[in-house]
Amino acid sequence: MKRIGLALFLAAMAVSFTLPQTRNVSAQDEPVRVVATFSILADIVDQVGGDHVDITTLVTPNMDAHSFEPSPDQIVGLTDASLIFEIGIDFEPWLERMVDAARPDADRVVVSEGVAVRSAGEDHDDAHDEDDHDENEHEEEQHEEEEHDDDDHHHGPNDPHIWTNPLNVVIMVENITAALVAVDPAHQADYEANAAAYTGELEALDQWIVEQVETIPPDARKLVTSHDTFGYFADRYGFEIIGTPLGTSTAASDPSAADIAELIEAIKSTGVPAIFTENVINPDLMEQLAENAGVELAPSLYTDALGEPGTPGDSYLGLMRFNTETIVAALTS
Ligand SMILES: [Zn+2]
Repeated sequence: MKRIGLALFLAAMAVSFTLPQTRNVSAQDEPVRVVATFSILADIVDQVGGDHVDITTLVTPNMDAHSFEPSPDQIVGLTDASLIFEIGIDFEPWLERMVDAARPDADRVVVSEGVAVRSAGEDHDDAHDEDDHDENEHEEEQHEEEEHDDDDHHHGPNDPHIWTNPLNVVIMVENITAALVAVDPAHQADYEANAAAYTGELEALDQWIVEQVETIPPDARKLVTSHDTFGYFADRYGFEIIGTPLGTSTAASDPSAADIAELIEAIKSTGVPAIFTENVINPDLMEQLAENAGVELAPSLYTDALGEPGTPGDSYLGLMRFNTETIVAALTS
């Protein structure tokens, strides 16, 4: 498996050396070539960059970023990018190896910089203050290093799904704007104007979600989803995460029969009327859970990816509105 992977990387590199290098073209009408690791981040970068950026998205709509495997073409595509936008916090465990293979000149932009990172599986955001502090620092060091030899990577307790709270996206937008201005200062005014307009929409979205959640009876503000992706949303809007059959990463091992039985009991005892499946994960397990617990399976939420163009989840703002309306409808019925 590893040998085949290495062969592909080497083949990709052989191709890349024959391609013209266009990265240093700095004419003002050339869009900045950037890479975004997944579809939601690509949309947010697009809101700031507009016509001045040409975005390549690695993990496309409805695809699962946790278990992604890059193609040789995608590895080659890194080499002429000026910026690589990533979440960090172990959301893209495959990116380090991709960068090691492609050795791009691009700057990596960890858009979660400055966001208060929560621990997975904790209901409250003050739980990460002590034990995980060193691990946070450790991870940041790893992202800044060009290379590191040990694969002794923590698949630790930090939750990467920061975008489920729109106020975190405001911080992501600040990071994205600063990075674009640094490589393309000629369009600083446009980037800052785009960022200000989008930030206004994010703050309006946040207030709208607050109002929507108020229509759910307080003791029904409880979520069961396929994997642990709504922690920041839950912290911000006052939901309790009852449980998830999969963990923070969908790539973790499958739940045991005992875990499933325990979750079914938790769903029954908390009295939630519905549980939720996700667009990036096969719904079979949640269908089975809903049937066994005697609750409704709500329409699929958009979690770690946009939906296809033309669906309600084809933008970040759209997917947040859809998810909120779906959660409200399911928990107030
Ligand atoms: Zn996830």
